[in-house]
Amino acid sequence: MAKELFTEEQIKYIEQAIGEAEQNTSGEIRVHIEKRCKEDVLDRASHVFSLLEIQKTELRNGVLFYLATEDKQFAILGDVGINAVVPKGFWDDIRDMMVDYFKKGQFTDGLAEGIKKSGEQLKSHFPYQTDDVDELPNEVSFGKK
Ligand code: CA
Ligand code: CA
Repeated sequence: MAKELFTEEQIKYIEQAIGEAEQNTSGEIRVHIEKRCKEDVLDRASHVFSLLEIQKTELRNGVLFYLATEDKQFAILGDVGINAVVPKGFWDDIRDMMVDYFKKGQFTDGLAEGIKKSGEQLKSHFPYQTDDVDELPNEVSFGKK
């Protein structure tokens, strides 16, 4: 299982990064990690997106960071509310930065840095509201394969 690749501290660190990023934005961030991805990474990420019910936020501003460690596949998938307002290529810099970390095997740092940056960049489109609700759990989700 992909979870074995991470220590409890590393998982907490990623979850903290999600919590902190969500202090900047009403956008909801989820992370899913598994080892294998044998299909098209965007198809797989879309499937995980639905499984985790990321589409169930009020503003449709959830985002999924999908990572398959062994097959070296990675995708960032934002919901329709995000896609409707952010410029084309919004995720490109974040993705490239994260991939640089992943290439060195630094999954935890790559995820945490990308998550932080996403919070900062989503802030102008989806600012944090004082009555914010944590609509989706900040927990890292791990695949069975
Ligand atoms: Ca929220
Ligand atoms: Ca959340």
